[in-house]
Amino acid sequence: MSFTQFGQTIGLSPALLRAASELGWTIPTPVQVQAMPAILRGADVQAQAQTGSGKTGAFALPLLQALQGQAPYAPRRVRALVLVPTRELAAQVGEVLRSLAQHLPTPLKVAVVFGGVSINPQMMGLRGGADVVVATPGRLLDLVNHNALKLGAVSTLVLDEADRLLDLGFADELAAVLALLPAQRQNLLFSATFDGAVHKLADGLLREPVKIAVESTPELDPIILQRAIAVDTSKRTQLLRHLFKTEGWTRVLVFVATKYAAEIVSEKLYKAGIFATPFHGELSQGARTQVIEEFKAERWEVVVTTDLASRGIDIAQLPVVVNYDLPRSATDYIHRIGRTGRAGQSGQAISFVTADAEAHFQLIEKRQNLSLPREQIAGFEPTEVETTALAAAAASAGAGNGGIKGKRPSKKDKLRAVGKLPSLGG
Ligand code: AMP
Repeated sequence: MSFTQFGQTIGLSPALLRAASELGWTIPTPVQVQAMPAILRGADVQAQAQTGSGKTGAFALPLLQALQGQAPYAPRRVRALVLVPTRELAAQVGEVLRSLAQHLPTPLKVAVVFGGVSINPQMMGLRGGADVVVATPGRLLDLVNHNALKLGAVSTLVLDEADRLLDLGFADELAAVLALLPAQRQNLLFSATFDGAVHKLADGLLREPVKIAVESTPELDPIILQRAIAVDTSKRTQLLRHLFKTEGWTRVLVFVATKYAAEIVSEKLYKAGIFATPFHGELSQGARTQVIEEFKAERWEVVVTTDLASRGIDIAQLPVVVNYDLPRSATDYIHRIGRTGRAGQSGQAISFVTADAEAHFQLIEKRQNLSLPREQIAGFEPTEVETTALAAAAASAGAGNGGIKGKRPSKKDKLRAVGKLPSLGG
C-alpha cells in the first residue's frame, strides 16, 4: 500500500500526506505501519526501532495530526514534548516536524531547545508558548527554572532514543521532567535497544502500551554490508587512504575514540589530499552544524568523528562508515553502522580490527550474532601481536626459567611488553 493510501486509511490530513510525499516517503516503513494507528487512537506506545527505520515520522505525523484538532497553545504552555539525548537529534527531529507541518492550514509552532548554546534566544523563541517542544532534558529544565515555559499542559510525551537518554546519564533529569507533566497524557517511548534500564523506565511510564518490535523485513531494511579488516594499529590511516582511493569512496564517516584522534586523523588525510574534517564535542555548536551541512552538501569527503555523530545525524545515502577505533559497546556499534544504509539504501560498515582489539571485536560480534571474516588488504597485512599475549608470553618465560636471578624479565621488560601504546600512525 502506498504511503498516501495508508495515511488516508488511518485518517492523516491531506496537508500532512502532501508533506510526507514531498520528503519522498512513498511506502510506509514497518514501524510507521504499526505505530501510527495506535498513536492516533491515543494509546501509549513502546517501540523498539533502530535508527533509519522511519521512527521519527512514525510519531511526528500522528502528533501533528492530533495537535491540529486541539485548541491552540496558551502563553508559555507546551502541548507536546519530545525528549531526545543529543543536540543533533533535537535539531533533526525539529526539522522533520517542521517539514511535515509546513502545509497545515493552521500553522503549528515547533521549538527546538538544547544545551551548549546561549539560552536567551531559546527563551525568546518560547515566548507565547509552542505546540511542540523538542528538547534535551538538561536545557529543558533550565528553561522551566527560568520560567520560560510550563509543562502542565503537555498532552503527549515522546521519549526518542530512550536507551541513549539513559546511557548519557539523563535519568535524574528525566525523572525531574516527568514530575512536571500532568498525570493525564499519552506516552510514546522509542528505543533501539530494550535492556533492563529501558524496561524499567517503560514500565514506570507507560499505561497498557501497544508494544512494537520491528522485525527484519529484508525488502525495507537498509542493506548494510559489514566488513572487518585486520590491520596494524600504526597502518590504519594509510589503509584508510588506500581504501578511499581504491574503493572509489565519495563520502565516509570515520569513527575514532577521542577528539584528539579525530583532529590528527583528519589532518593527516587532509594533508594527503582528501577533504577531511574533524567533528567532536569540543567544536562550537555553530561549527558542528556547519560541518554536518557541508558534509551533506558534499563539500567534505571524510568526516572523522567521535561517538558524538553515532546518533541523530541523518545524511541520506551515506555510503560508508569506518570504525577506525572500535566502539566501546555492541549498542554503540549498532548506532554507528546505522549511519549508513539509511531508509532502504545500501551501505557498508567497515571495522579496523587491530591485534589488541580482536578480543573486544569478538565480544561485539557475539552480542550481534555476527561472525565476520577478517579481511587482509595487500600491503597492509597485520604483523602486530596482541600486547596482552606478549605480556603473558613474557610472564610465562619468566616463570619457566626456574627463577634464576637475572634471567627473569625485569620490571622494565614487562612494561615494555605491555606498554606498547596504540599509536596513531600512518
Ligand atoms: P528515522 O529512522 O526517523 O531517523 O528516519 C530515517 C530516514 O528515513 C530519514 O531520512 C527519513 O526521511 C526517511 N524515511 C522515513 N520514513 C520513510 C518512508 N516511509 N519512506 C522512505 N523514507 C522514509
